[in-house]
Amino acid sequence: MTSASGDTTSECLFCRIVAGELPADVVASTERAVAFRDIDPKAPLHVLVVPREHHGDIAQLAAADPELLGEVVALADEVAGEQADGQFRLVFNSGPRAGQSVFHVHGHVLGGTQLGWTPA
Ligand code: AMP
Repeated sequence: MTSASGDTTSECLFCRIVAGELPADVVASTERAVAFRDIDPKAPLHVLVVPREHHGDIAQLAAADPELLGEVVALADEVAGEQADGQFRLVFNSGPRAGQSVFHVHGHVLGGTQLGWTPA
């Protein structure tokens, strides 16, 4: 399968993590989504939530399978409840200029502290 970014699933970093080919600190998972700690955390809680299936970004996922997007959001909520106080920010960078560097849709679940707001 080839994504809009040109990655094939065999080359996609997060497809390889989901498949268990690369190590990750998995904190929760469902049949269709996985949550694992970001390797370079920007907050006390910084977990990535991804669908197991490859979609390039949040808009592509929403168009292809809105129910799966809902499952990814629900997993973020579950992780924030288990790993922090239940309050969280969920960030989906979409496109390189927005900061996206891995082109398998992922939500950054950020929390565990009072968050600031300096996106630019
Ligand atoms: P983005 O820049 O929005 O595409 O986010 C990609 C995120 O993936 C960054 O926050 C990276 O720190 C994180 N990341 C990259 N490689 C890994 C990895 N092997 N395991 C966990 N997180 C990773």
